[in-house]
Parts: sequence; C-alpha cells; structure tokens
Amino acid sequence: MMNIDSIHNGIVLDHIKAGKSMDIYRMLNLDKLDCSVAIIKNAVSHKMGKKDIIKIDSELDVDLDLLGYIDPDISVNIIKDGKLVEKKHLKLPDRVTGILKCKNPRCISSVEQELPQIFKLTNKSARIYRCLYCEAKAE
Ligand code: ZN
Repeated sequence: MMNIDSIHNGIVLDHIKAGKSMDIYRMLNLDKLDCSVAIIKNAVSHKMGKKDIIKIDSELDVDLDLLGYIDPDISVNIIKDGKLVEKKHLKLPDRVTGILKCKNPRCISSVEQELPQIFKLTNKSARIYRCLYCEAKAE
C-alpha cells in the first residue's frame, strides 16, 4: 500500500466515511485515470473511529462541488513535491449541476434534454436541494 510519502504531486482525500471510498472513486471517475490511485479502507481515525482515504498520484482537478455534495466533511489535501501545501475545506455547494436528475416528468429539464440539470440548495441544515426550473425536491 502506498503511503503519503510516495505521493509527489497529487491529492489525498481524507476523512471519508468508512465504506464510502468506492462510491467516491466511481463518482469522481478515478477508474479513468492512468496514475496510481490508492484506496485505504477502515483506517484508524481519532475523530471518526474508522475512515477511508483515497490517494491520487496526479495533479488532478477534483470537482470540489461534487465532493462537497457527497460529503462536506471530507478533507482535500494537495501534495506538491511530497509536501502538504494546501488543505481545501469543502462545503455543501449552493448549486449542483449534472449530478442530480429532476424526477418531475413535466419539468422543462425533463422535456428539453439539452438543458443542464441544475439544483439549488434551499435548506442547508436539512440538505435539501430543489430543481432550479420546477422546484421539485431532489431525492
Ligand atoms: Zn425540475
């Protein structure tokens, strides 16, 4: 297994809820990358008990809105020349595009296929997103 020292220029996604790393791997399309990607499951965490970690040995532009939507508690560590240079903090994005699909068959975004699927955060504490066009709640 790869340790943090073996990443020269890349990204470490830390504090992933235990068992969620494969979902994130798929949602970020990490299987499409040529570089090495290490998934560490059930690492010991003082804060969380158990956590998953993903290490990507590439200077990849991770979709922070997507990650924040999946889990705003994930920490994104940017590694350059083998050193941690930046910790990005995620938050629930105000808008998500192309992640959720409107379930309302009469919604303009269901009828007009070329329209992007855009949802806006309408209730932060309850994590409720609604369709920008018809206000239908995302499930
Ligand atoms: Zn809609």
